[in-house]
Order: sequence, then structure tokens, then C-alpha cells
Amino acid sequence: MLTPERPIEQELRWDLSDLYPGPQAPAISSDLDGSLQKAKQFQERYKNEEINALRPSEFLQALKEYESIMEEGLKPFLYASLLFAEDSQNTEYKSLLQKGKERWNELENQVLFFRLALTRLPESRRQDFLNYPPLQNYRHALEFFHRFHPFTLAEKEEEIINRKNMTGRSAFMTLFDEFTGAFVFPLKVEGEEKELTGSEMLSLLYSPDRDLRERAFRTFLQHHGQNSIVLAAIFNALILDHRVEDDFRGYQSPMHRTHLENEIHQETVELMMGITESYYPLAREYFQLKACLLGLPKLKNSDVYAPLPGGHKEISFGEAKSLLLNSFTQFHPLFGRIAGEFFEKRWVDAQIRKGKYGGAFCSALTPSLHPYLLLNYTGNLHDALTLAHEMGHGIHFHLARKQTLLNFDPPLTLSETASVFGEMIMVQALLKEEGDLEIRQTLLCAEIEDIIATVFRQNVLTRFEQKAYDRRRDHHLAGAEIGDLWWQENEKLFGKTVEMLPEYRWGWSYISHFIHSRFYCYSYIFGELVVLTLYEKYLEDGESFVPAFLQLLESGGSGSPDDLLGRMGLDVNRADFWERGFKVVRNLIDELKSLGPRDKICVSGDL
Ligand SMILES: [Zn+2]
Repeated sequence: MLTPERPIEQELRWDLSDLYPGPQAPAISSDLDGSLQKAKQFQERYKNEEINALRPSEFLQALKEYESIMEEGLKPFLYASLLFAEDSQNTEYKSLLQKGKERWNELENQVLFFRLALTRLPESRRQDFLNYPPLQNYRHALEFFHRFHPFTLAEKEEEIINRKNMTGRSAFMTLFDEFTGAFVFPLKVEGEEKELTGSEMLSLLYSPDRDLRERAFRTFLQHHGQNSIVLAAIFNALILDHRVEDDFRGYQSPMHRTHLENEIHQETVELMMGITESYYPLAREYFQLKACLLGLPKLKNSDVYAPLPGGHKEISFGEAKSLLLNSFTQFHPLFGRIAGEFFEKRWVDAQIRKGKYGGAFCSALTPSLHPYLLLNYTGNLHDALTLAHEMGHGIHFHLARKQTLLNFDPPLTLSETASVFGEMIMVQALLKEEGDLEIRQTLLCAEIEDIIATVFRQNVLTRFEQKAYDRRRDHHLAGAEIGDLWWQENEKLFGKTVEMLPEYRWGWSYISHFIHSRFYCYSYIFGELVVLTLYEKYLEDGESFVPAFLQLLESGGSGSPDDLLGRMGLDVNRADFWERGFKVVRNLIDELKSLGPRDKICVSGDL
């Protein structure tokens, strides 16, 4: 049967009616009120009843109720977030989001006791519960909560920490955001004096104009340097604050808590980081190649992400969509089928509109709802890759809908698995089709630079952070001393191949991960290397790789990264697991080199 063609504008806009018929639908209010009401009843029923005293079947009932209340409460809130992302200027959407947020907070506070009770569940009780087969589904969640038991303080102490944080840690974080957010940078762009924001300045690192890239980066860093007294004070206070709290709670090292949250052993992280360091020369080989492709004798660190001349390509949404569908289907029919459903049922919003959120995301919602994708499709290569990336996330969450809410979200370190994999599939499909040499080079460079930013650079950031925490044990760190530590770690990566701008000394002071979530950066390395290793395995094993991969995605967050990868026969505690990922980088660089003729003028020097 022939279906009538949909107008292209409609095809590019998502259809949220699977959630609610519209922002005024009565079901929104009834979900908001109903879930909060149920949360209150849940609290009344279980708060004073010792969770420990429940029979296993009652405990199962409580877990299921908890999940169902959370799902019901999340739905209107997430719907409002999607509307707001669609048009932030719409006042109706804005107030609906505000209402959704407030209700969600209220609901979370009502059921917070339950999560604390799960953390405090005595070992013997947990074992009893787990011996009851229907509770097996919650094994991982219960083990996860339990892990924090030894580091949880008495209720009053927890409350004191929480309240004091408002004028302590949280206040410093807010100060950082407000202080640096108010920075404006004067810069001459195309003969015109302008005042730019921080993110506008950093986006100029992707400008084809070398002088502009350098001036923008220098001005940006210099301004941070001029404010280093405040920025260093914030950094010092936060490190000390974490240490004091860690000592109270009994964590053994500054990274201990992060490792528990990520469910990764310290030895594994150290192994991964050490191996990444041993591959720094691979990054330097690329930097040298990139200098050559740009026709420069040597890169400055403001040149690393510079675009190649002549690498621009237009690609319409329709072309990107059919390329994606073909390549995903070739990988596995299920991948193609799910991606097709996203387009067919309009779960994707790719149109550029005023008031719409400027980035890209996949909103996972809950297991009972399908995900939605948002991006701004302008029609270049980068957008086509973003589409594949977000579609990867979409497929991951779609497959994980088999899980219940507590097992739904994949662990942080595996959350980019399908997205980066989807991008790799798309890059290979684009390379296969593309005859133009410069565009092929651009594609390969984009892929390699992504890896440099998520693996090598994050390794430098984490090493720097480790050193800073270590030093701060001994004394307060002056801005210049922090700058020295930063410089040394960056020098290990760049070597003599890339010249760092002198102002780069202040490069540590604008990284918000250091402020908001310490040691977060290593999860990027972990996640990216896992995908590269999986991709390498796919190239080696071919089709037989795919069923296990699908199973990994279907598992959502029902296990730790160790467990989930272990089921695929992979062991993150072995050096060859991590080394395998670097083979992909090696191959990408070799492929780029083989594209000549530009590379013929590239000579290999001291790396
Ligand atoms: Zn992503």
C-alpha cells in the first residue's frame, strides 16, 4: 500500500502525542497529583515500618510500587522538559516545566527514605531477600546501594552535611558558575570589535582562521589568569572540602567514592590510564600529521581542532537518513528496524527553529515510554554524525526497555556505547561512498580528534586532578603552582610536537568538571575505549559479535560494567582489553596517512 508523502517540515518535527495530547491535557495534572499522592501514601506505609522486617514478597511489592510511582511522576516532568527544549520562549511550556520540576522534587523527597533504607539494609537481610527468586531482578540495584553502607553516617550527621553544603561546597560551585558565566571577552572578529561569551570564544577554536583561533584562546585564558586568585581559592576550597568529608566517611582516597559510584576497581582505572599514557606517542603522530594537512610546520594547541581546508560537504537530512538506515540495517536488521521506527513515528526533532534548544540529546524517559531525539540539522557532515550518535542512544534505550526502572539506565561508563558505535558505523558508510579526498580526510580527522578529546585529553585532566589532590593534602595551592602541575601533565601528551600557548598555564581554571564532579573525566576514557575495543572485536568476529552486543544494550543498567562486559567474554582487568581499543586509533591514522598525496610532504620527526 502506498502511503502519502509527508511534507518535509512535518517529518523533521517530533510528535509528542504518545505522551500527552497537548500541554493542557487533564492527564498531566492527574499524573502530577496522582504520583505525589501515591508517594505520600508510600511513605506513610513504609516509613515507620522497618523495611528489614518485611517478608520477601512484601519487599518485592514495595520495590515495584516505588518504581511505578517514580515512572508516573517522571512522565509529566519529562514531557514538560521536551516541550521546553522544543521552544524555550513559550511561557506555557516554561510554567509547565517549573511545575513539573517542583512536583518532582517534592516526590523525590517523599520517597528518599526508601533509598536510604536500601543503603542501610543489613547484609543478612539482603541475602534473605535475594534468596527469594522474584527478587533476583533487583540484585544489582541492592548491591549498588549496599556498597555505600559503610560510608553512610548517622541521619543527623547526614543532615548537617547536607545543610552545611549549601553555604559550603554548593556555594563555591555556584560562585564558580556565576563568576565565570559573567565573563565577557573583547575580541576583534572580521575587523569588528565584539564582546563574546566564554562558549563563543571556545567555539572559535574550530575557526579556519589561524590568527583568530589563537587570539581568541589567548584572550580567553588571559582573562582567567587575571582572575586566578578567586579561581584558585574555589579550587582549593573544594578539594579540602571533599577531603574533610571523605575522611569523616572513611573513604580511603580521593577517587574511592567515584570508583564506587562507577562500580570500577581502582586497579582497573590505574591500568587503563597507564596504558593510555603509553599511547601518547600515537596522539603525537596524529598532531604531526594534522600540522602537515594544515600546511603548518608545527601545531600550536589552538590548532588541534582546526578544520581542514576544502573538507566541507553538504548532506541533506534525507540523504543522512537513508545512509543511516542502510548502514544500521547492514550492521543488524534490528538496528535498522528500530531506527526506521524513530523516523516513521516521528520520535526525532531535527528542524532548526527559533527558541529551540541549540544542542542535541536523546531523552530516555522510562522503560514504559520510548525515547525521543532532538538535534539541529543544518546539513553538514557533523550533523549527519550527530544524527547517528543520538540514534545510537535511542536504540540503546529502546532495547533497555525490557528492564524495570531501577535497571534501566546503563552505567555511566557504558552510556555512550551504542552512540559512539553508531557514529563509527556512519563514518565508515560515509567513507565508503565518498570519492573526494579532502572530505575523506576531514571525516577521518573528525573521528580521530573525537578520540583525542575523549581519551587522551581526559587522561591528562585526570592525572592533573590526581596530582592537585595529592599536593593539596600538604598545603594550599597558589594559582601558579596549579598552573605548573597543569603544564607538566599537558606537556607529557603534547611533547615537542605541539607548542602550548604561554597563557595555557591557566587552562585548568575553566574546566567545570573539576568543580562540579571531581574525577568525572576518567569515565570518558573508559567509555570511549570500551567502544573502540568492542568495535575492534566486531571487525574481527564479524556477524557473530552482534547478538552479544545487542544483549549488552538490552541489559541496560542491570549489572556493573565488569559484569555486563564479562558476559561478552571481555575482561576490563586485562591490559590487552585496553590495548585493543588503540588498534582502532592506529588503523584510523594509517588510513589517513594512506590517503596521500598531502601526506607525502609530512616527515616524521621527534615525537
Ligand atoms: Zn552521547
